[in-house]
Amino acid sequence: MQKKFFQVAIDGPVAAGKGTAAKKVALALKFLYVDTGAMYRAATWLLMAKKMAIDAAHEAELLEVLDKVDFGLVNQTDEAGNFFTQVLLDGRDVSSLIRTPQIDANVSTTATLPLVRAMLVAKQQALASANSVVMEGRDIGTKVLPAADVKFFLTASLEVRASRRFATLALSHPEMTLQDVRAQILERDRIDTHRATDPLVKADDAILVDTSDDSIEETVAKMLSVIHQKLPVA
Ligand code: C5P
Repeated sequence: MQKKFFQVAIDGPVAAGKGTAAKKVALALKFLYVDTGAMYRAATWLLMAKKMAIDAAHEAELLEVLDKVDFGLVNQTDEAGNFFTQVLLDGRDVSSLIRTPQIDANVSTTATLPLVRAMLVAKQQALASANSVVMEGRDIGTKVLPAADVKFFLTASLEVRASRRFATLALSHPEMTLQDVRAQILERDRIDTHRATDPLVKADDAILVDTSDDSIEETVAKMLSVIHQKLPVA
């Protein structure tokens, strides 16, 4: 892919702080924020809503369904100034529907399917060929944008990641215990790091950022200082 725009790639395991940091970095740089996990989530939601079997044996049928829908990611800022991505499937807002424990439990299975990945990777690359991006996911530095200008691999201890995820689910899903959340994170990470196609792995040239003990402001400041050194002088 020929590169005209600036690319920031952010990868890492579940709840490492990628989304929050990526949004703030994108806002600061006025780049397009791309949440690739939202695409895998939206695909999973659609396939589950259609009660389709999400497995390799049915991949051709799954792809046929996914090929027909339009995936929209629209960045918005609410009245309180919070930045978020609205996820649209054929124009229908599925943003909250894709952030449930049910989708959490199934999305990594969808993400093992090579043809589904190839389709979503092509969409992600198309976005990066028309915009400067801050793109976050699991395979951005290794597969989607291997020539990214700056690559980060965010991580944090399991305990920190579990409590973060638990806190975001507490209001909407009070039935989930910290132990449930911890087990789900471990399982998702296991599938994401062991799949055959584009597994979650730190790119050799990615900068490792451990967010366990840092505030979000500290993490973002670290990332922006690296990026500013690489940005072309205007
Ligand atoms: O980032 P988020 O937790 O929303 O991602 C949901 C899931 O989507 C991940 O656990 C992973 O299975 C899959 N994913 C992926 N490749 C990406 C982004 C997400 O496989 N680039």
